[in-house]
Amino acid sequence: MSNFINMDTAEIFISANCNLNCKYCYISKNESIPELDNKVISALEDGTYLQALKKSFPDPGKLKKLELWGGEPLLGMKVITKHIKEYFDCFPNLKSIYLSTNFAYHVEDLLLFLQKLSELDREIAIEIQISLDGPAPVTMLSRGAKVNELIEANLEMCAQALSEINLRKVKVNFKFKSTLSLDNIDYLSERENVIAYFSYFAKIAERFNQNCINKNISFRSGSMPNFVVPGQYTTEDGRRFFELIRTLEDTHEYCKSQGLLQNYSTFNFLNNNVKKAITIYNKGFKNMPLGFCGGLKSKAAVLYDGNMMVCHRAFFDYHQEYRDRVKENNDLLERKVMYNPNSLVEHAARYSMLNPSDEHDFAKISRRMEFIYKYQKLQISAIMANICELAYCGQVDSIYLQDEELLAKSALVVKLYPNCLYDNILTTGSFYLRDFSLVRLFCNGALEYLFSKINSSVCQSKQNPTQTAIPGAWSDRE
Ligand code: SF4
Repeated sequence: MSNFINMDTAEIFISANCNLNCKYCYISKNESIPELDNKVISALEDGTYLQALKKSFPDPGKLKKLELWGGEPLLGMKVITKHIKEYFDCFPNLKSIYLSTNFAYHVEDLLLFLQKLSELDREIAIEIQISLDGPAPVTMLSRGAKVNELIEANLEMCAQALSEINLRKVKVNFKFKSTLSLDNIDYLSERENVIAYFSYFAKIAERFNQNCINKNISFRSGSMPNFVVPGQYTTEDGRRFFELIRTLEDTHEYCKSQGLLQNYSTFNFLNNNVKKAITIYNKGFKNMPLGFCGGLKSKAAVLYDGNMMVCHRAFFDYHQEYRDRVKENNDLLERKVMYNPNSLVEHAARYSMLNPSDEHDFAKISRRMEFIYKYQKLQISAIMANICELAYCGQVDSIYLQDEELLAKSALVVKLYPNCLYDNILTTGSFYLRDFSLVRLFCNGALEYLFSKINSSVCQSKQNPTQTAIPGAWSDRE
């Protein structure tokens, strides 16, 4: 077993279907989906999927976490509920389940699943991520009308029902995941709307925690939104993004002064990465976090035939029929696939595949993980070069051609932003390179503004310039 691959988490698919049609969804809802869904369901029913998982995890003690993915996983809840005991019987150290749901329909099936888990008499931690983009004016634009109402009603129902279920050793944690897109920027350009946005999540979580008296359940509030990635962001989008970041920062200052929304230490979802970038820079790029989800390193999407892929996002592309329909329907740009789209999707599906019984495949993926781990500074150099190229042609701020420190720190933020290796392949053809469009989004005012706000840390690093060897300068070749 390679030092660079040490998997303990499997993502499995329990439904290829979804009952929503979100604007930014990476899945092309084409004619091949029902057939794909049938394959998934019959593999779950007849035990083929469980056999595949055993093939992927030949040492059953290694598997600790199971993630249930779709499409919409609640559409596959009934079938996985019937068989979940077999999964726990096979994997003695399995102790955690994660799922990410739109929470709009079939929530009663989730309750039956939790009840079934409680009967196993094992300590199990469940994390349920509910995708909700914000109050109705925001979610309406991305996920459709009525989704807010449905989610709020389902949470009320759940809080009541879960208060009456004895979950024994099962603990459940709910949280929200919100996604922001350019469509929401105008709404969030007003201070009162920003306050309404963050208050909305806080109020729902608080109401749930008040209504649900089951001590095994909690609702964690305070999570930060993500911006849609990958994207096809332009220079103009980057300027609008800068305005958004400025409004978020100003509003947060205002809320602090008024004692509002005190559970939020920031409203700005780039803040943590900006702070991390300063620390990493000041420490001479030592102890850099990998900045990716761990796909094919600590976890993998396991298909019902036992092959593994870098990410659940690759599940659909793995199927020839799905890829054919995507090309026929010309859906590739919608899915942010750039350059030579037809060959890139084929390439991505092959490039990220791992047959666990094929030594050659293992060596190939292991080598890629090793490169990701060892050559992080080169990755930053590539992003720095990329920022400069875009500055030369006027697509990002020209300050990046003069301020090398800002350049290096900004490259770090780009690197640290949630990074899906599969997106990297689709947009650049490589595991290692991030898409250009994120640079246009971040480097047209937003990062410059944020770094200048944390001026004191910047000054500190300037007083001690010998600590920092910028990777682009080749002075610290590995
Ligand atoms: S709920 Fe998820 S899978 Fe369904 S359309 Fe929206 S983003 Fe796609």
